[in-house]
Amino acid sequence: MSLVDDLYRETILDHYHNPRNRGTISDATVSTEGVNPLCGDELRLFLKIENGVVCDIKLESRGCSINTASGSMMSELVLGKSLEEAQAVISEFKNMMLTKGEDVTLPEELEELEALQGVKKYPVRIKCALLPWNTLDEGLKSK
Ligand code: ZN
Repeated sequence: MSLVDDLYRETILDHYHNPRNRGTISDATVSTEGVNPLCGDELRLFLKIENGVVCDIKLESRGCSINTASGSMMSELVLGKSLEEAQAVISEFKNMMLTKGEDVTLPEELEELEALQGVKKYPVRIKCALLPWNTLDEGLKSK
């Protein structure tokens, strides 16, 4: 395993062990649920949207390390973003995960997400990484 792989692994484990923005929002603007039956990942996502900005985001998830880490990173990157900006982050991430073969480079602000790129070697786990993002996408579209 190369040094880069090690750093990636550390990022994922850090988010897995200390998930950011965990919990619920009682007066959420939107709440959505996502399930990945292949792995058993389940998640509920709460968004508070004011003036077109995601001003709070919380996740309750029960799932594997990849699903938990991905959701945690997502929550940090989307918090404080406008709906358009949030949608753009979703697109960048999905594009990275669904681009086969080569590694994709993300804008500096989203660099941390590149840690999840190693998952692409395991097609079954790609769904684990995408679940929080698909759930967010649904939530934003139901808005
Ligand atoms: Zn999973």
